[in-house]
Parts: sequence; C-alpha cells; structure tokens
Amino acid sequence: MSEPREVEVWPCGYVAKCSVPWCRQRATTILRYLDSQGRFYRQTKVCESHARELCAGMKVIDRKRRAE
Ligand SMILES: [Zn+2]
Repeated sequence: MSEPREVEVWPCGYVAKCSVPWCRQRATTILRYLDSQGRFYRQTKVCESHARELCAGMKVIDRKRRAE
C-alpha cells in the first residue's frame, strides 16, 4: 500500500463537524486523498485550519474554484 501524496480539496456543501476528534470547528473542506497512481484512497472533512495542516507536504489539487 502506497502512502497518499496527492490530495484534492473540495468545498464541503453541507454542515458537518471537522473529523479531527478534538476539533470543534465546522468542516468547510473535503479532502480526497489519492495514492501514487492517482486512485482514490480515502476522504475526510475538516475545518480550514486542519485542511492547511493536513495538506502540508502534499501535492494539492484545488477543486474549490468552480466555473460560474
Ligand atoms: Zn479542525
């Protein structure tokens, strides 16, 4: 099993709590991890500050900007 190196950042369109157990912030971001072959690995929803923390050292693919 290869460690995920890439993460897609999606806006969280519904009200949910950050998945970090001790965090009480609202999740605003969905992180979709991809493995080294670009395949879906796992996903988690987190608040703004944890999103930044979890993306550190990863290749980030920003899906937050939508064509309007
Ligand atoms: Zn958080």
